[in-house]
Amino acid sequence: MTHDQLTFTNPVTRFPDITPPKQDQSEPGLDAELIPQTDRGEDSYRGTGRLSGRRALITGADSGIGAAVAIAFAREGADVALSYLPDEEEDAQRICQLIEDAGRTAVRLPGDLADGDFCERVVDEAASALGGLDALVNNAGRQIAVESIDDLDDEQWSQTYDVNIRAIFRVTKAALRHLVPGSTIVNSTSIQAYNPSAHLLDYASAKAAINNFTKGLGQQLAPKGIRVNGVAPGPVWTPLQVSDGQPKEALPEFGKSTPIGRAGQPTELAPAYVFLTSSESSYVIGETLNVNGGTPSP
Ligand code: NAD
Ligand code: MG
Repeated sequence: MTHDQLTFTNPVTRFPDITPPKQDQSEPGLDAELIPQTDRGEDSYRGTGRLSGRRALITGADSGIGAAVAIAFAREGADVALSYLPDEEEDAQRICQLIEDAGRTAVRLPGDLADGDFCERVVDEAASALGGLDALVNNAGRQIAVESIDDLDDEQWSQTYDVNIRAIFRVTKAALRHLVPGSTIVNSTSIQAYNPSAHLLDYASAKAAINNFTKGLGQQLAPKGIRVNGVAPGPVWTPLQVSDGQPKEALPEFGKSTPIGRAGQPTELAPAYVFLTSSESSYVIGETLNVNGGTPSP
């Protein structure tokens, strides 16, 4: 008897063990230029109607994990508004095409989440274009490696905190004007929240803040019927890593030290976001789902 490739697969060999060449892109990187290319589920993700009729805003939906989540949400039956930076138009258009191919609505909302006004505007425009909003995925993030605290300046600290945690506060607060009982919020945190790398002081500490914010707000909104959860990815091959997210010499080894022995692909993250957004997870609140190739986490 043969098994379907997606229902029975060796996770070690489901995706190749990649050894990315050293490469550099200016921030934010593009999936279109990443070597090797990633798997965002374009040819594999199969929906089963788990998000039928949902209306989702996903930040950082143009590339990497956010793009895989956007494709999955659309194939599960959701309409999707995508937030991304204006320089990422090429990546965003490709994902919008895939959403439309799934028969769903895609709304493009470029802008900078470090800007407080944009954080409110992106929510209101998403809700107005989708006819409401009942799912939010706070996934945008910036990661710039700095070897020494002596070279980590105030400006970088503020920029990282503005995008990685302050924008989550602002976007979430604005979204609560639209979210009705049954709605969900999923935040992208990181293994870095527990196992910080020495060269990611600003990034890792902001990710720890996201975990904590998720657990606090989860309790606050539970009685209102709005669930807040997080997903903590391990090393996933995305443009974040080549736009100064990692020291260049670390790129060929990226993800190899995980128990599974390889980097993750963005599509391997999407089911976690689908689960936490679908009503199947109705009793899961304030939880962080770790998707990291086996590294122990609290
Ligand atoms: P990615 O570069 O594909 O996605 C990050 C996105 O954040 C960008 O596409 C961009 O649209 C958005 N963004 C960055 N700065 C922004 C700004 N100022 N305004 C608006 N949008 C902005 O990389 P990814 O790895 O898919 O990252 C998605 C999330 O996953 C991030 O929060 C990241 O911290 C988290 N994460 C990634 C990894 C990994 O190994 N790739 C591991 C743990 C956590
Ligand atoms: Mg991008």
